[in-house]
Amino acid sequence: MRLILIGPPGVGKGTVSALLQQRLGLITLSSGEIFRREIEAETDLGRLAQRYIQHGELVPNGVTIEMMAKRLRDPAVVRHGFVLDGFPRTVKQAEALDEILFNHGIDLDKAVSMEVPEDIVVARLSGRIGCTKCGAIYNSASHPPKREGICDVCNSPLFVRDDDKPETVRERIRSFWTNTAPVIEYYESTGSLMRVDASKDPESTYAAITAA
Ligand code: ADP
Ligand code: ZN
Repeated sequence: MRLILIGPPGVGKGTVSALLQQRLGLITLSSGEIFRREIEAETDLGRLAQRYIQHGELVPNGVTIEMMAKRLRDPAVVRHGFVLDGFPRTVKQAEALDEILFNHGIDLDKAVSMEVPEDIVVARLSGRIGCTKCGAIYNSASHPPKREGICDVCNSPLFVRDDDKPETVRERIRSFWTNTAPVIEYYESTGSLMRVDASKDPESTYAAITAA
């Protein structure tokens, strides 16, 4: 299965892709996670990306596309199937992805648009904590880990993302509507779009995706 998850920040893309990875063995490629790892490792790419990410802006298409194209060249990714979380986020990126897949002789199964009212998204982002190691996501109010600050799945320390502060969250949501909403129309026009209601828990979103 080859999937793309599209949706505003806080819609639950990370949680759902972690479920798809754990249960179906799909390889998750999260552009946001990859950027955060590059920042942590203090690479040139990380330093560049950081300047945009800290303001909630998109990292330029050129470097983003190159970074994802490199990951998608891995034969294991092509063989096992994948979930792309956070890429493509612009129509340019979507066109580039089409070309990459075409060159590998593979097709996309579905582009899943995860849809949710905006107030729910804001509530989910405040209080969000995540695991750097396995990608599990918690919320201090609605879904706390069993032990404070420790991942239930892999026992690693949990962290709060620094782009989850309110001004940056607003900018990320704004960017979603201007840059990424057209990506949904793009996949609608190619016939691969599937819309799911993501306002309930991640399990029901997971069930809707796997049922389709
Ligand atoms: P969320 O979907 O919750 O906003 P992500 O972890 O997917 O968060 O992304 C965090 C940040 O990384 C984005 O706000 C953006 O700055 C950058 N980023 C991630 N993916 C892309 C992409 N495909 N193109 C450009 N920038 C990206
Ligand atoms: Zn973990």
